[in-house]
Amino acid sequence: MQNILALDQGTTSSRAVLVGHDAKILGVAQHEFKQIYPNVGWVEHDPYDILTSQLSSAVEVLGKANIRPRDVIAIGITNQRETTIVWNRDTGKPIYNAIVWQDRRGAPLCEKLTRDGAEDTIRQKTGLLIDPYFSATKISWILDNVEGARAQAEQGKLAFGTVDSWLVWNLTSGKRHITDRTNASRTMLYNIVEDRWDADLLNMLNIPESMMPEVVWSSEIVGQVTTSLGLGSVQIAGIAGDQQSALFGQLCVSPGDAKNTYGTGCFLLQNIGNKFTLSQQRLITTLTCSPQKKLEYALEGSIFVGGAVVQWLRDNMRFFSSSPDVESVAASVKDTDGVVFVPAFTGLGAPHWDPYASGMIIGIQRSTQIGHIARAALESIAFQVADVLQAMNKDTRQPFRELRVDGGAASNDILMQFQADLLQIPVRRPAELETTALGAAYLAGLAVDFWSSTEEIAKVLGGDKLFEPQADRKEMEARQAKWQDAVKRAGGWNR
Ligand code: ADP
Repeated sequence: MQNILALDQGTTSSRAVLVGHDAKILGVAQHEFKQIYPNVGWVEHDPYDILTSQLSSAVEVLGKANIRPRDVIAIGITNQRETTIVWNRDTGKPIYNAIVWQDRRGAPLCEKLTRDGAEDTIRQKTGLLIDPYFSATKISWILDNVEGARAQAEQGKLAFGTVDSWLVWNLTSGKRHITDRTNASRTMLYNIVEDRWDADLLNMLNIPESMMPEVVWSSEIVGQVTTSLGLGSVQIAGIAGDQQSALFGQLCVSPGDAKNTYGTGCFLLQNIGNKFTLSQQRLITTLTCSPQKKLEYALEGSIFVGGAVVQWLRDNMRFFSSSPDVESVAASVKDTDGVVFVPAFTGLGAPHWDPYASGMIIGIQRSTQIGHIARAALESIAFQVADVLQAMNKDTRQPFRELRVDGGAASNDILMQFQADLLQIPVRRPAELETTALGAAYLAGLAVDFWSSTEEIAKVLGGDKLFEPQADRKEMEARQAKWQDAVKRAGGWNR
């Protein structure tokens, strides 16, 4: 029986997922790895932790599902986006840790770019707003701060890559230095209108073009695995950044199709077709997967802390020992008792874009208990999604009639019900929440003709759960206004 192996390299863990022809998941293996916080607002990963956790998950899932490596007909890769790795082309060794998407150290350089009036140019070329979230200022920081880096870069000795590039480079023993268009579109250096690395932007940020990977389509055969995983000669045939992969995994392939993923962060993406359009609401425009190999765009609202607020309650506050337990703790109270939680641990993303916003819990009283704070944390995820969805509605003037969801935290029924109540539209949750991995599997499978079309895949899917709005609209509007007041108070605090 043949399968596709999806490698899902996430922010906190690496997963390997085997997908059969019926689009069912046959096995999952997962390894968490270390988060490194060297400074306030800094987040790093060891690139070798990323690699080894990913490779060991791949080996493990084959064993667990009892699948022979030769029955894997292609590999699809999906990855945490924007995270930046710079390595030496000769030795293959990174010259610094991976600087993670959540890392804010590029904020001063972003301010300078804004002061220099670069905002409009960057927006017209990349669809992005100037923010340390994207790779560009992370690369600049490495070149400016790692001894000898700039000289080496100028001699063409250094390679930059997002996590997909790093994985492919290693899986192909350094034969391929590539990235796909969805990942390239997150660097703030790729011109998504003209479909090329942008020389003006590279100059502006003082980054030599020789560092940049070759850009490929998300669904095409790009190389063979050469490492000794037992997977030698398997084709790598799909690559996509995690959110675009999830959009594809939900088969949002037509204009207007949209999904929200509740993972570490939350990401609302809507397919807007082949016309490059900029948001008026501080959302970003980004490239999305196109098996037809044509430029296609999505509007995106990126929220930095989603499920991570639950992790914070678990690991830092020790309120409970596993993330799903948040549900019973939150269910121990009937409401938040007036507590509002703004989880701006790494600033705020869309639609606020405030790298200096701070985390805040407000409305605490003598009666406040753990349950109230847990409930406020869950609600904060839904409030942030509502802010972004309403911004997107204003942009497209075609209000959402339903929201498709996925990601780890979408398994939480309290959160999904509150989301439906807040938005006053139904929330649709598929039976399979691993849509990020499914997307990468579909992309690879379409490239090797394992599946003939997305229509063929759509036929075998089913089993969605629908959450209908139940709460009073007026009351929900008042709750959201109170939330927005709290967000204002948290703004700029860390400046
Ligand atoms: P990622 O791919 O970004 O690592 P996942 O999609 O695996 O994230 O989702 C994991 C996130 O979801 C974690 O932040 C975790 O705290 C949160 N999470 C997992 N289960 C639940 C739950 N039942 N309720 C709320 N949050 C949850």
